[in-house]
Amino acid sequence: MKDRIEFEGVTFRYQEDAPPVLKDVDFFIEKGEWVAIIGHNGSGKSTIAKLMNGLLFAENGKVSVDGMSVNPESVWEIRKKVGMVFQNPDNQFVGTTVRDDIAFGMENQGVPREEMVEKVAGSLRDVQMETYENHEPHRLSGGQKQRVAIAGVLAIAPDYMLLDEATAMLDPKGRQEILKTVRDVQEKSNMSLVTITHDLREIVAADRVIVMNKGEVWFEGTPREVFAHKDSLSFIGLDVPFVAKLTEEMKQYGVSFRKEPLNHEEMVEELW
Ligand code: ADP
Repeated sequence: MKDRIEFEGVTFRYQEDAPPVLKDVDFFIEKGEWVAIIGHNGSGKSTIAKLMNGLLFAENGKVSVDGMSVNPESVWEIRKKVGMVFQNPDNQFVGTTVRDDIAFGMENQGVPREEMVEKVAGSLRDVQMETYENHEPHRLSGGQKQRVAIAGVLAIAPDYMLLDEATAMLDPKGRQEILKTVRDVQEKSNMSLVTITHDLREIVAADRVIVMNKGEVWFEGTPREVFAHKDSLSFIGLDVPFVAKLTEEMKQYGVSFRKEPLNHEEMVEELW
């Protein structure tokens, strides 16, 4: 199938004799859509992200991007299409300055020098870091590092952008700004966005939500369907810290938990 990331019957183990951390996972990400992947810690979300851009390879089942199977031979082609930002950008920086770091990905793609200079400046403007071109990435704050890592991927303009808890170190306002920026790019360029997140605002505003539980796709649907699903509150109730966190977060935005299904329009309005 063209123009999508597709998981077909994917089972994955980190060690041969260990139980699988993903079990028969099937789903797809269409071109241009925003999909939020949510679930408890350890449910397999990061493993999914790593399988999407060839940091890991599926042994059983198939992961493909625009019809191309993700395997050791295709990995460089895949990474031109799929850009990824991790929670901890320190593992991702290669340049000694912010400018070099952002330019690195473009150099690999043979982008002409003048265009590169323009794109570095443009992507730093997008994330409000334009005055940091000459700074050392490792000396920035956690949130600034995340902004720079996101700028690095925006500069490459991939077809699919994966954000794995990539705004977790930003304060709520900064997170919202960055997400709006990424969303603008996504809408203008028809890029797909996959966000692995605990942020309620990302969950309610995505086009589609995939809920992972213990290595399996537990539920998949629009945010409205996820919140209205009769078991979604009990799903959240499986993990008390997560309920507490979500309830707290909702209170912060002036939304309280209710027994009846949550009203999606209200939530979008309250949170954005
Ligand atoms: P999530 O992103 O939802 O927190 P992960 O995909 O990181 O989940 O992890 C899924 C499971 O795989 C967890 O049980 C985790 O302990 C295990 N796991 C993750 N990375 C490794 C690794 N490098 N080696 C062995 N087990 C791992």
